[in-house]
Amino acid sequence: MASGHNFSNYSLIIGRFQPIHKGHMEVIKKCAAESDHITIGIGSAQYSHERNNPFTAGERYLMIDESLREEGISNYFIVPIEDLNRYSLWVYQVKTMSPPFSKVYSNNPLTRRLFSEAGYAVKDSPLYNRELYSGTAVREKMAADGDWRGLVPSAAARIIDEISGAERLKEISGTD
Ligand code: ATP
Ligand code: MG
Repeated sequence: MASGHNFSNYSLIIGRFQPIHKGHMEVIKKCAAESDHITIGIGSAQYSHERNNPFTAGERYLMIDESLREEGISNYFIVPIEDLNRYSLWVYQVKTMSPPFSKVYSNNPLTRRLFSEAGYAVKDSPLYNRELYSGTAVREKMAADGDWRGLVPSAAARIIDEISGAERLKEISGTD
């Protein structure tokens, strides 16, 4: 008896989500609507407490999970994935950490190349207001006491405040 799964419309979105921002949310919403199921891969999962990677995989997991719930999205899994630093094996690393998927949404040229060489369908994902919505822009505003809260989903802003994320970023950006 065949099972009910047809993975041909299962998709993967991968990013570092340091932190998740409204640009990510637009892609996730589009992908969740077009796909039966999405896996959100949290890349560079082993890093935290660095200027460019301030949040742990667990904190990022919570921010993504609560932001998606807040949007009413429910057809997803979230999977933290550590870097391998060997690109030829990375696709297989992702594959073994994720539920099955057939399509990959990414704008990153290396990610696109690696997954298409491995036989996956790579989908374009439009960039939404990239000037405003990038992880780098959010972290820069946090470090400068700017208005970062408007750039991220409200659930993510709440969690960052709960863990004193902006204070962490400012401290670890300082010099001794
Ligand atoms: P950073 O500045 O920290 O690199 P980032 O904004 O580039 O952060 P990542 O966590 O590196 O985000 O995730 C990269 C993925 O997120 C890519 O596939 C990219 O297409 C998507 N992405 C990033 N910003 C946007 C945006 N404004 N609109 C749509 N997709 C985005
Ligand atoms: Mg990036």
